[in-house]
Amino acid sequence: MSDLIYDWNRAEGTEWTSPARPQLDDETLRDGLQSPSVLDPPIEKKLRILHLMDALGIDSADLGLPGAGPRPREDVLRLAREISSAKLRIRPNCAARTLESDIRPIADIVQAAGIGIEGAIFLGSSPIRQYAEDWTLDFLLRTTERAVKYAVSVGVPAMYVTEDTTRARPENIKKLYTTAIACGAHAIVVCDTVGHATPQGVQALLRFVHEEVVKPTGARVRIDWHGHSDRGLGLANSLAALAGGADQVHGAALGIGERVGNTPMDQLLFNLRLMGAIDRDLTRLREYCEAVAEAVGVPIPPNYPVVGSDAFRTATGVHAAAVIKAFRKHDVELANQVYSGVPSHWFGLEQRIEVGPLSGRSNVIYWLDRRGIPAREELVEKIYAHAKHADRLLTDAEILELCGRPAP
Ligand SMILES: [Zn+2]
Repeated sequence: MSDLIYDWNRAEGTEWTSPARPQLDDETLRDGLQSPSVLDPPIEKKLRILHLMDALGIDSADLGLPGAGPRPREDVLRLAREISSAKLRIRPNCAARTLESDIRPIADIVQAAGIGIEGAIFLGSSPIRQYAEDWTLDFLLRTTERAVKYAVSVGVPAMYVTEDTTRARPENIKKLYTTAIACGAHAIVVCDTVGHATPQGVQALLRFVHEEVVKPTGARVRIDWHGHSDRGLGLANSLAALAGGADQVHGAALGIGERVGNTPMDQLLFNLRLMGAIDRDLTRLREYCEAVAEAVGVPIPPNYPVVGSDAFRTATGVHAAAVIKAFRKHDVELANQVYSGVPSHWFGLEQRIEVGPLSGRSNVIYWLDRRGIPAREELVEKIYAHAKHADRLLTDAEILELCGRPAP
């Protein structure tokens, strides 16, 4: 295929870099459930989603915020027990404010479930947030110190999260992370909490954190990126974060999350594979997205990448003709890539040729062939003429009726 596609994405000067093994943290069951439009699914559905994350090779998952009340606490415990009893490879973490009353429940779940759980301990870091909340930098530093030390003392490895990092001053970022690392934080999470960043801004921030904050500490600290899609840049920013030195990026299935949502995990997975940064079996990606869509009550838009119903579907004459010619060469890979930047067979899906007002006769002939119906000239003309007068694609039932056959 490399002879047939000249890849400008790999042209000189455009090389995209990433860590040798970029890691992914799934926020569907925490930030995802903060979306204003979702249902909090019952535990059985959360368990299924957790298994699907594991099947896709997602490295870690935020199980929820157990400090938020009895229901989240019970759900997080059940999910943690499942990871342990089903021997899942996915690593759990839980969100917590910088309060003992949020961190303690995580320690209790660690004891009850018998597995390690990272505590994602979060605190606002930007001047706008400081101003709104009447926080001084000293207060933030003291709070950081107390919370991180407490988490470590009760056996919860601290992953220290600065909210709104993308609008925070460099000197404050440096002081906050340096304090957290000195108190024992083993990971830091750089956040675009409000969806403010551009890819160039993310790279500048990540380089600063990597070179001027983490390196001077001499500590081995994982750097995470957590992004939101308010500007529609969630995915681009996450890829920029990996190029800028992040070890792990966060996402949520279908991009659900606070306001317009988080970086879409599904899109991260297949883009990282297309870029050669990961090599995972993605045949269950659709199942994962559909399970989440059904569980939270958010339908998948038809034009959503890969898992939307239109992702690998065309009725346009020129497009369909090229795909059909490729199919006739008995080359699935060719057919799947001649008019699509994402190969459908990676996901156990295939190109679908439909018939509509923009179709050519070859659409009709191909549609009939696929169903074993002889493509007699007058039948092809009849369907073709019908499609030309329609204001949308013909349904299978409509075409079958024109063929004088009962709809299945
Ligand atoms: Zn978030």
